[in-house]
Amino acid sequence: MHARDTAVEVRNLTVTYGPETALRNLTVDIHGGCISCILGPSGCGKTTLVQTMLGLVSPLSGTVTMLGKRVHSLEREEISDLLANVGVTFQHGALFGSRTAGENVAAPLRTRTDLDEDTIQSIVEVKMALVDMQHAVHRYPAELSGGQQKRVGIARALALDPDLVFFDEPSAGLDPVTADDLDELIEDLNAELGATFVIITHEVRSAVRISDRIIFLDDGNVRESGTVDEVLHSDDRKVRRACTVGFAAILLLP
Ligand code: ADP
Ligand code: MG
Repeated sequence: MHARDTAVEVRNLTVTYGPETALRNLTVDIHGGCISCILGPSGCGKTTLVQTMLGLVSPLSGTVTMLGKRVHSLEREEISDLLANVGVTFQHGALFGSRTAGENVAAPLRTRTDLDEDTIQSIVEVKMALVDMQHAVHRYPAELSGGQQKRVGIARALALDPDLVFFDEPSAGLDPVTADDLDELIEDLNAELGATFVIITHEVRSAVRISDRIIFLDDGNVRESGTVDEVLHSDDRKVRRACTVGFAAILLLP
């Protein structure tokens, strides 16, 4: 894929959970090669949007075209092939607690490739070094800090050299300094790898700091999208206000 192509095209996507509508006729493009943040308050549909892009949730209507493939028209096996090229760190996506950090990173290589043991071990070392965790290959998740666990999760998401990587609330539950370090790591990795990164977050500060583009979600739809500068200078008062003072302050606005 050429870096400047559209990595994901979402068209008129509607997703419901029983009587509740989580996404309403949502249309958006994720640009290739850069960092896009899907930003919005809790409950606005961020996780649902990503899970629908990944084929984990089926839409009521609309389409998702990811890396040129129409996700919800694919057979199970074709989805599996497509997802081999997509890395994910889930919001609550824990590591396997009974496996070392290195074995966690090796897991996708073991299930998806026929690589021999030496090759797997050297890829694990490279990926762990990429996230500054080369010293922790043999440690168990319980022996790592929250920030270190997130780093191992990122190394695992990068194991198969994906073209597209989703990070759902990557710094959730971390202290501000550790969260900033993780933002910096994600920015560095994007520059180094040239893959398309999609960050899901409700942290305005983090979104503004690391993204090239922001998709601002509100109540199941895109309220604004564009470069960081365009979104910061939006004509929409609610968007501007959220970007300057955060989401708590906009709950009072109509
Ligand atoms: P966000 O990630 O932005 O916090 P979600 O995508 O998790 O938002 O949720 C969007 C809406 O859909 C919320 O109102 C939430 O309560 C609802 N929702 C999410 N997942 C489910 C589910 N599995 N079953 C029912 N409702 C859900
Ligand atoms: Mg979420």
